[in-house]
Amino acid sequence: MPVTMLMYHVIATPQNAAEARFCRTPDAFRKDMEQIQQAGYQVIPFATVLEGIAGKIEIPDKAVAITFDDGVACAYENALPILQEFGYPASVFVVSSLIGGYNDWCEIFGFPRRRMLTAYEIRALTESGVDIGSHTLSHVWLGKTEDASVVKEVQDSKAILEDILGQRISHFAYPFGSWSPFARNAVIEAGYTGACSTMSGRNRKDTDPYLLRRSEIKGNDAPWQFRLKLSFATNDMPPISDARRVVSQTLKKWKQ
Ligand SMILES: [Zn+2]
Repeated sequence: MPVTMLMYHVIATPQNAAEARFCRTPDAFRKDMEQIQQAGYQVIPFATVLEGIAGKIEIPDKAVAITFDDGVACAYENALPILQEFGYPASVFVVSSLIGGYNDWCEIFGFPRRRMLTAYEIRALTESGVDIGSHTLSHVWLGKTEDASVVKEVQDSKAILEDILGQRISHFAYPFGSWSPFARNAVIEAGYTGACSTMSGRNRKDTDPYLLRRSEIKGNDAPWQFRLKLSFATNDMPPISDARRVVSQTLKKWKQ
């Protein structure tokens, strides 16, 4: 420890400017995986992160976990083959009421329509070693939702996935990173063992397992920005001019 957790959304070419932030092209994603390998990081499953926080096992300093929010079909079509190339584990957080449907909640943000994972694809991901978690029923802001609906979103989404997979679903991610003490408690009560926020930073032994930290990899992050996020688990990158200076100074030091 500490462990960096990476957050991706769509692995595909963006179809318009609105979704550019959330779409990483398969080529850029493969380069990210190459950087992880070249930098000597060990990719560990979500469950292992939780075991490390609980003090059950020792996790090396250079460890990273890979997560995908939403459950868009490209997790199966585009991300899985690349993960398999590298032999890397990952978690996919699925919006359970939209399985086999479309990314309806994205419409108001001007995103193009995208196909969501089918039950068949979710089973195939599991059989390929990808961990499936819940991302609520309908991608709501849990921090702004009334209590009864929070409980339903957290519990029913878990039950749907457990029906499809015939196994326990233990991991959760808050849509929009929106949570409240009530929502966090509902996640615990529903029987999840851990939950991802969208707060940045690395995960340590004192990190709340129900508010794990993740670094968002954006569609247009350059390779050097990815490298900095891998090391420092930031979300907000310094302005390009500052960051370039830091990187070039670091490179000079390495060459000396
Ligand atoms: Zn989401």
